[in-house]
Amino acid sequence: MSSRVEEIIRRRVLTEVEKYPFFQRAVVALSGGKDSGSLLHAFIDTYPNKEVIPVHLNLGIKGFSEASECFAKMQAERAGLRLMVFNLKRELGFTIMDAERLYPKVCSVCGGFKRYLLNKIAFELGADIILTAHHLEDFLVRMLKSVLNAGFEELARFKTYLPRNGNLIAKGRPFCRVPESLIVEYAFLKGIPFLSEKCPIGRKENVERFRRTVEILARRQSQKLLYFSSLTKLAEMLQNSGAVTMPELTPCSSCGFLASSEICSFCARMKKIRAFLGRDQAP
Ligand code: SF4
Ligand code: ZN
Repeated sequence: MSSRVEEIIRRRVLTEVEKYPFFQRAVVALSGGKDSGSLLHAFIDTYPNKEVIPVHLNLGIKGFSEASECFAKMQAERAGLRLMVFNLKRELGFTIMDAERLYPKVCSVCGGFKRYLLNKIAFELGADIILTAHHLEDFLVRMLKSVLNAGFEELARFKTYLPRNGNLIAKGRPFCRVPESLIVEYAFLKGIPFLSEKCPIGRKENVERFRRTVEILARRQSQKLLYFSSLTKLAEMLQNSGAVTMPELTPCSSCGFLASSEICSFCARMKKIRAFLGRDQAP
């Protein structure tokens, strides 16, 4: 018999995923943490007939990436699946720690790399969708930041599901209405192994401040859900108002994936990092 926590999570995953058009092959981004480990488990539990490919990106962060990969592997094995690992150092010749030397605000670069690589991998695997484990508070923080910083374009672009666009695979966030506290309960209840250590190079003070603000503003889960609905409505209104213009996407002249500039930010940054490392290693 399933517990209350399992039931809530299953219901919320189901409600969200039922809004997506039909799909069969899903890539689940597995970091080794509690959120993605729980998502993999909850998704398989809810949709046992879908094809799931767990993918882990090893970012080469010393003392952290080794452990993350190890936990991701355990989570995949526990679900009876084989983990696919993409190792940045091996495949691209540099790590996120190398990138940090050139880009001290490394999280935005790292986030962009992860999005690009997951899309490329999913595209090559012929997947229909990429599922990530962003939860309720992740969304509230992002949306609140956009509103307070007048980042209306960012808010207008906000979606819990992004349909496929050319070579950009569809993206779904089945945990968007699940609070973090429930995910923690679920992970312990289901005995999901996860790495609780935080990334040692991430500078997310700003995010943490917003996170604390969300906790002060919404003491109860129902309040968080209400704020989420209000902000989602606001994002939809902005999208439909025509007040913000969406950038036109064209194929990147280097890799061919759709981007808002002639050369995509991944290719441009990768070129810079490789040139920087080349200079660095020159005699
Ligand atoms: Fe990358 Fe920042 Fe996350 Fe670390 S905290 S994995 S650097 S996005
Ligand atoms: Zn490119």
